[in-house]
Amino acid sequence: MNKIKNKTFVPVVYNCNDNCISCPVSRRYGMENPSLEDIKKEADEILKSHSHIEINGGEPTLRKDLLEILKYIEKKNPHEIGILTNAQSFYYNKFTERISKIKNLKIITTLYGHNPKIQNSIARNPASFKYKIAGIKNLAKNNVKIELRILLHKMNYAHFNEIADFIIDNFESRNFNSIVIMNPKLTGTAGKNAKFVAERITKLSEVLEAPIKKLISKGYKVWLFHFPHCTLPKGLWEYSKGVTADSSSVVFAEKCSLCQKKSECSGIWKSYLDFFGENEFMPVKDTGK
Ligand code: SF4
Repeated sequence: MNKIKNKTFVPVVYNCNDNCISCPVSRRYGMENPSLEDIKKEADEILKSHSHIEINGGEPTLRKDLLEILKYIEKKNPHEIGILTNAQSFYYNKFTERISKIKNLKIITTLYGHNPKIQNSIARNPASFKYKIAGIKNLAKNNVKIELRILLHKMNYAHFNEIADFIIDNFESRNFNSIVIMNPKLTGTAGKNAKFVAERITKLSEVLEAPIKKLISKGYKVWLFHFPHCTLPKGLWEYSKGVTADSSSVVFAEKCSLCQKKSECSGIWKSYLDFFGENEFMPVKDTGK
């Protein structure tokens, strides 16, 4: 059983139909998946103290009894049931229709690129783009709440403006509950491939402002996860508040104690500090806008 303090997520499967170079978990070939009974017990434990829960993996939709797991959780009446998924299984209409009937469902899925070349090279799956985009469209058609995460790193951040244009051209703002721009946790497969994936947050931040403002002007709700205020242009501070469910891996640098924005800051991935050090992070003194 997962012992992370205050955790709200349950891993239900260890295999995946992608092999993302920026995945924060290691491939666990041949590892036996948790039993249905263990998943139920873990869900019960989480729901004793939380009103939301997230199912993750691996790729949760590969689990044949996913619907049974969701129905079990639904009966406990949480205010949100998240599924962290690559969304490719939602390419299939019948599957999407069945899952979309779950009450208070939220799909959380990650997009890497605006074309098959970028998306598929990061997912290391030649079919990723085709199935994911169709899957997201299917979910939107079934009115499922979707959080679209755009994971920016060395391999795709230069294309962020094109990714924003792709979203505007292919989806309506009402299709997404939120669009979250984030940077990778450098653990697991991403940690092993850090030389291909890791980019300094201050470098990523350089490409953010115009595309984010463009998305916001078109009605999309955009948030920045894991981007501390001190690395961002002031115009983006109000959007930088979030962390993923895995907040146990987030830390502050020693000098952060001097920062006037610390209470609003997302903090820094511990794995990022281990890789790049803390030079980029400078306590914010001027809190004016
Ligand atoms: S100095 Fe530390 S607390 Fe302040 S914004 Fe930067 S990372 Fe956050």
